[in-house]
Amino acid sequence: MLLRLLSIVFKLALLFTISYAGTIRVVNRVDNSIDDILTLDKLRGTYVSTIDVSRILAKRDPFINKDRGKMVLYIGDHRIKISANSSYLLVDDQVFQMPMHTIMTDNDIFIPAEAFFNIIRREALPGIKYDSRRMVLDIDIKAFTITNVNISQKSNGTIIRIKTRNLFPEGNISSFFHENGWFYLTVAGGLVDTTEIRRTDTRGIIKSVAADQLGESSQLAFQMRTKVESHELYQSKDPSEIVISLRTSIKNSLAQMKKVKDRWKLDTVVLDAGHGGKDPGTMGKRGTKEKDIALDIVKRVGLLLEKNTSLKVIYTRTEDIFIPLWKRTKMANEANGKIFISVHLNGHPNKTAYGFETYLLRPGKTEDAIEVASRENEVIKFEDKSKNKYKDLSDEKLIIATMAQSMQMKESEELAAMVQEEMAKKVKSKNRGVKQAGFHVLIGASMPNILIEAGYLTNSNEEKNLRNPKYRQTIANSIYKSIVKFRYSREQYLSES
Ligand SMILES: [Zn+2]
Repeated sequence: MLLRLLSIVFKLALLFTISYAGTIRVVNRVDNSIDDILTLDKLRGTYVSTIDVSRILAKRDPFINKDRGKMVLYIGDHRIKISANSSYLLVDDQVFQMPMHTIMTDNDIFIPAEAFFNIIRREALPGIKYDSRRMVLDIDIKAFTITNVNISQKSNGTIIRIKTRNLFPEGNISSFFHENGWFYLTVAGGLVDTTEIRRTDTRGIIKSVAADQLGESSQLAFQMRTKVESHELYQSKDPSEIVISLRTSIKNSLAQMKKVKDRWKLDTVVLDAGHGGKDPGTMGKRGTKEKDIALDIVKRVGLLLEKNTSLKVIYTRTEDIFIPLWKRTKMANEANGKIFISVHLNGHPNKTAYGFETYLLRPGKTEDAIEVASRENEVIKFEDKSKNKYKDLSDEKLIIATMAQSMQMKESEELAAMVQEEMAKKVKSKNRGVKQAGFHVLIGASMPNILIEAGYLTNSNEEKNLRNPKYRQTIANSIYKSIVKFRYSREQYLSES
């Protein structure tokens, strides 16, 4: 019996190692050329030659370190690092995990095709499309939806015309002036041709133009020579473009004021229970899972809001399911949420650590914040668990994302302070205060957003408390109260202005 079993196992193992060399057809719609990428076809899927991928998609030759089994491809404006026999892929400084590891041959590294092209499409080259069934890679840079920028100078100001390929829902476009002299525009669901945008001829009060694709959002930034007093932004259908007019004198109509007020009115709250599904989050020694406690607290908060206020409550999840981080903020933005509250439970190697804290997104992270951030971002898994890697998680990107949030920052701070204050009144644990970190879940939400770490599951006593429904209700009450308080203070502010 055992022998028979062993022989089956052996045969199966053999089957999995068998591979065939093949090709993927590359169709370039830009110049109508056809090419091939060498593949290894295994039972688990198709792997593509890194060297071929680089030859076809990159602007310059790859960097290859054969001894260390490392390769760097330069695709779009991005650096893609590939390691032999690893399932991790680095795009600039961001780590991605593929379902299978790469395979090294004598002078090449083969990468799981589907996962790789998906990541490249999302992070570096939106114009590619891979059809795994037909084994065809389609290259069509026309997939960009934000294609170029034209700046013109008028007697009363400067007009920026951003060419688009489609109209975006109004809520997807947000913009603001930062006191550092830059004007930031974020288009959720846009795909920006960064190379083209950077070539924009600047004139008038525009000193320079920058663009970046951050996951599902396009970011454009314009540096001003002088202070702009007012600006207007609208979309035009024919030609399809986003038009921004910048004026140097203030002229605020009442209608405009009302529009702003309406946009700011707190009518929708997004509640996000951390982790879920295959991602349990932190675990207590009694087996308590972060995902379950977080969901329970979130549901309690939601129930209080639904029962006692007119606020609309949006949940990123109401069940034990896995939802990628980017999707959570997307849901929040699409629902036109006015505040985003993510609930988590903490963990620490030092089991004596306990208490509750609330996080804000900001650069200038403390060691502790990095620690927490790297754990909360663990869904994205790191090639090397060392904290250092997280430190340089594209500071630049973090800054841009942070800029896009600076308007919401003050409000996020207020909300965070209120949460801590309310929790401190009733929750019998330690008030660890408001902290800052670079959580992925928070980046991209275009509304005040906070992440509450309601307690430490790694602390035996706190885990015991968190398992008690009454204790969770107390936490929920406090969060609920802080939302009500925050809403009231914002309404006060709006009625005064
Ligand atoms: Zn968490």
